[in-house]
Amino acid sequence: MKQCGECGFPVRFASLFEWRGDGTILMKQRGGALLQIALLDADELQGLFDSLSDTIGFSVDHILVEAQRRVGKAIYANRPIPFLKLVPHSRLTRPQWAIKTAIDVLGRDIKAIGFGVVHVDSYRAGDHLALHVDNACLAPRLAGSFLGAAELVEDVPMTVKYRMDGDRLAIDIRRSEENDQAEERLYLDEVAPAAASQDYERCDACGAPVKIARMIDWDSERGSIEDRATGHRDVMFAVQSLNSLQRELEAEIGPRIRNVLYDTQVRLSLKAPIAPIADDDGSFWDDYLLGLALRGMGYPDSFESGEGTVTIEISNAYNQTLYAARIAAALEARTGKSSNIVWHKRDADSAAYSISEAQ
Ligand SMILES: [Zn+2]
Repeated sequence: MKQCGECGFPVRFASLFEWRGDGTILMKQRGGALLQIALLDADELQGLFDSLSDTIGFSVDHILVEAQRRVGKAIYANRPIPFLKLVPHSRLTRPQWAIKTAIDVLGRDIKAIGFGVVHVDSYRAGDHLALHVDNACLAPRLAGSFLGAAELVEDVPMTVKYRMDGDRLAIDIRRSEENDQAEERLYLDEVAPAAASQDYERCDACGAPVKIARMIDWDSERGSIEDRATGHRDVMFAVQSLNSLQRELEAEIGPRIRNVLYDTQVRLSLKAPIAPIADDDGSFWDDYLLGLALRGMGYPDSFESGEGTVTIEISNAYNQTLYAARIAAALEARTGKSSNIVWHKRDADSAAYSISEAQ
């Protein structure tokens, strides 16, 4: 992967993503849906899904596959081979090279966003696609993306089976007679326009925020991203996929799932806190909030901190519940005490709450 001569940032990455001044990251698209992305700790995310599955008594994996299938379709609706839309769908006109081209592009993206290295094992147009991913993580997310991309190219319903073996993920996609019957609520949110504006110091050559370039390391051979401060693996994850998972669980189980999510994220964040920005001279909270913003998790419209308490209003959190939980974990780590949250407002696009140390 070619890197920026100025800051070391992968060139492909700088051209694919836009770090907005409001603490969100967009995946740039020509037409099609806009995707919002956050840089998240892979193990922590897997821990969140596992712990959710344990608590509710069934695996959330199939919901993740479905949500990501939508994301896959949204991403590849206008890339990589838009002219395919003009080609009639048949065995003769959708030859091997078509999906090969699509999977090559998808594979380069997967590598760039930290999910491993893709190899196609076998393919027959209109019938099946078998591939594997080395150094893979978050299997359902990968399986869903390939399913969405394959359906888009083939324009027929497909199903997916997948299996993790060590860090190798085998994915098998086959023609299905059943139509995509995913729930309506698995739609993707629209991306809101940027509001508040942080003034990031940017690289003159590629435009990437300098601090994000210093924060992470790419292993372009193995398709992974490492957080320099923690040594953990990071991935660029579609925020809309996470939120459609939450919507689906709320519809199935009820709104109390939000509190399960909250408690789980507080626990996970306490175990592996986000390291402060090393060279920043702001206060702890300035630093912490900036770290979240650079990762695309959003930035508060207002923030006040007092003795053992913080009060926040925020419209663009990547997920309101998970963002609040990260703030609570940071407060708990500072005070050494557990905390309570009081929600004044709790909508997806607008939240206000106070978090205080427990008495
Ligand atoms: Zn640069």
